[in-house]
Amino acid sequence: MKPPIFDYAKPADLAEALRLKADHGDGGTFIAGGQSLVATLNMRLSSPDILIDIGGVEELAGIEVSAGRVRIGALTRHRELEDSADIAAHAPLIAQAIRQVAHPAIRNRGTIGGSIAFADPAAELPACVLALNGEIEIARPDGRRKVAAGDFFKGLYDTDLGSGEIITAVEFAADSDDWRTGFDELARRHGDYAMAGLAARLRIDGETVAEARLAYFAVGDKPVLGLGAGAEITGKKLSPEAIEAAAAALDGDLEPFDDLHSSAAMKQHLAGELTRRVLGEMVGGAS
Ligand code: FAD
Repeated sequence: MKPPIFDYAKPADLAEALRLKADHGDGGTFIAGGQSLVATLNMRLSSPDILIDIGGVEELAGIEVSAGRVRIGALTRHRELEDSADIAAHAPLIAQAIRQVAHPAIRNRGTIGGSIAFADPAAELPACVLALNGEIEIARPDGRRKVAAGDFFKGLYDTDLGSGEIITAVEFAADSDDWRTGFDELARRHGDYAMAGLAARLRIDGETVAEARLAYFAVGDKPVLGLGAGAEITGKKLSPEAIEAAAAALDGDLEPFDDLHSSAAMKQHLAGELTRRVLGEMVGGAS
């Protein structure tokens, strides 16, 4: 199918982008990489009056590391994350995950801001930002605000982003040497959205897990922290027994539902297997 007719504007800066959005209200839709939006237009799931192309807004671009914080501009493309030495050094979880996001052609265009705003529950980057305990920076005509990732993702394709607001960046603490990261997902084919996935970060003190952030995706209506699973390994050595207890605790953490790719029971099973696999690979060595 072809998209419905729409107007098009390409603002030069953030202020103009926000002004256009305010002028058009819900009839105006931002377009970044277009890798999700164009499909929804073509399927007539969305019919905006005007597309506001933020691709030229330089303030939204770039990766910065300073004072122990990583700041990724909303327009940063998946390919830039994949190629970035700063991301490899300071956010290895994203470096691990990004290669699983779709295919190279899509990674050349898709942006982190688009992925976070679209909030597909099976997407990798929202889960990574949750595991990183990150914040989403949001601009609106009268100022800026930051929202913790845990509060930003509300449900199926639903976020805390208000009408008239734009995501400007994602921010989180750079990983220090005591953090280990692990990532894996199970999909029918490489590059497909996952049937289940896990983005994991552990802070290790000596041989003990001091803090665990296990973010599961594609197993609910948004990325979910496995709090019970994390509690089973916190304060302990990452032994096979602790990992098994974490996998078992997922029964209380997750509420998957059937989707086109797999049943709820299958997703629950896969999440347990991913827990064993990802945590098992994290035993002993830093990522
Ligand atoms: P767009 O498509 O331009 O926009 C998506 C939505 O976000 C729109 O509603 C838009 O208004 C809004 N938006 C964009 N930027 C902002 C902003 N800064 N502030 C506020 N709202 C904004 N993704 C995965 O995570 N994993 C996959 O495995 C995967 N597989 C894919 C396979 C295919 C075949 C395709 C076509 C896409 C796939 N994607 C996958 C999606 C891809 O990663 C998209 O790039 C991403 O979801 C959206 O980024 P975008 O920049 O293209 O956003």
